[in-house]
Amino acid sequence: MRTRFAPSPTGYLHVGGLRTALYAYLLARQTKDNFILRIEDTDQGRSVDGAVEQIVHGLAWAGIAPDEGVVLENGEVAQTGDKGPYIQSERLELYKKYADQLLHDGFAYTCFCSPARLDEMRKQQQADHRAPMYDRHCLSLDPEDIADRIAAGDKYVIRMKVPHDELIEFTDVVRGEMSFRGDTIDDQVLLKSDGFPTYHLAHVVDDHLMGVDMITRSEEWLPSTPKHLLLFQAFGWPAPTYAHFPLILNKDRTKLSKRRNSVSVNGYREKGYLPEALINFLALLGWNPGTTQELFTLEELIEQFSMERVQKAGAIFDTEKLDWLQGQWMRKFSLSEFASRIRELVGEQYPAALADTEFEKKAALIQERITFFHEAPDMMSFFYTEPAVRMDVIANPKQKVTADILPDVVNILIETLGSIHEPDWNLESISSSLIAAIDASGLKKGQVLWPLRAILTGREYSPGAFEVAEVLGKETTLKRLKGVFA
Ligand code: GLU
Repeated sequence: MRTRFAPSPTGYLHVGGLRTALYAYLLARQTKDNFILRIEDTDQGRSVDGAVEQIVHGLAWAGIAPDEGVVLENGEVAQTGDKGPYIQSERLELYKKYADQLLHDGFAYTCFCSPARLDEMRKQQQADHRAPMYDRHCLSLDPEDIADRIAAGDKYVIRMKVPHDELIEFTDVVRGEMSFRGDTIDDQVLLKSDGFPTYHLAHVVDDHLMGVDMITRSEEWLPSTPKHLLLFQAFGWPAPTYAHFPLILNKDRTKLSKRRNSVSVNGYREKGYLPEALINFLALLGWNPGTTQELFTLEELIEQFSMERVQKAGAIFDTEKLDWLQGQWMRKFSLSEFASRIRELVGEQYPAALADTEFEKKAALIQERITFFHEAPDMMSFFYTEPAVRMDVIANPKQKVTADILPDVVNILIETLGSIHEPDWNLESISSSLIAAIDASGLKKGQVLWPLRAILTGREYSPGAFEVAEVLGKETTLKRLKGVFA
């Protein structure tokens, strides 16, 4: 199954675009066929410099690099494949040729209507509460007149002639049976007065010539599909199958918008999301495996993805879920990989970390809780500097830690931990001696362990008290305890 992703280079790579690309990539991979990247830059007014680079680099970062079309070669944008060029602005001659063929065969006509006339027409239709549609003013012009006007330099477009008496029926892989009445379909412009095709003509020509088997795209293109099927029919080409993926929505079910969520893939990358986490998240945005599995590698997605489990309903973009997945992916690193990914970062702030032979041990304690690599220096700060300990963090009503019991608690801690012999200082000895001391004191566990942890780390949230004490060592642990009331 040859599939393609066909973005317009109008800005950054959108997360919705990345999901569309991902699904297309998975389908191609499942059949070991090519996933093509084609750039649809026929709307020159909307094309943005650097956008193609962003798209190509974004896909590469996400791990779903195209096999054919516009690709990255040694870090540079290039084209590969025998069905190119894969950038539409380099294919203008082709579109012109095919538009002429449609004119010749009576499936299209030349239209000279000025923007002002079209505007007037639309306003009138609106006032009459009719759907805006071209009124076919130019449908039956005299061929000689047409030739004269073109020779005189009049501006014109080419429109498709939609058969009004036809019912266009097709089965969308996601949406099921669809049918559209011909008389509700506009005579779409195919070739603009600047010689550029519209998306509608270009996509049909390209997907045919590039041998694409399934057109996968977002639901917003569903209403245009009958036009495309009519074009395939007019050319006498077999139509590919179509699959329209559900819209991505904000939590309030409005269409995903910049105002509420970041929508650029690069934005997520810059915030520190792992490509694995974003891909995992996007895969589940409109598809479900039918099991309780939530973590998927790309390989697993290739194995398990199926169109039957792509939903029709809009998919809610839930950033909490994304962050949860991100955390899960952080825990999937082996400890040594994780430690080496954060070592420099922590070392920038705490140079001692660079030569620390116990760095992995410390890293292990935060790997369980971290969401982004850039949080590591802050999360590990108490290993390398004396934390500022605030009374309001140590005293904790929920744990029944009140200011009046603190002096006693700190004494118990100093005495108990102080009596452990330095060579026996380990998780087992620390926990068993503290538990015994807590039992003997009549205090609750939290009343002793919360202050211990808070004093050692200065933080409300951190790894557990025993683990931190063990890694800090006896000397530092006692020093911090003794310092609280000093
Ligand atoms: N160029 C179109 C877009 O960016 C592509 C739609 C399609 O995949 O056919 O929305």
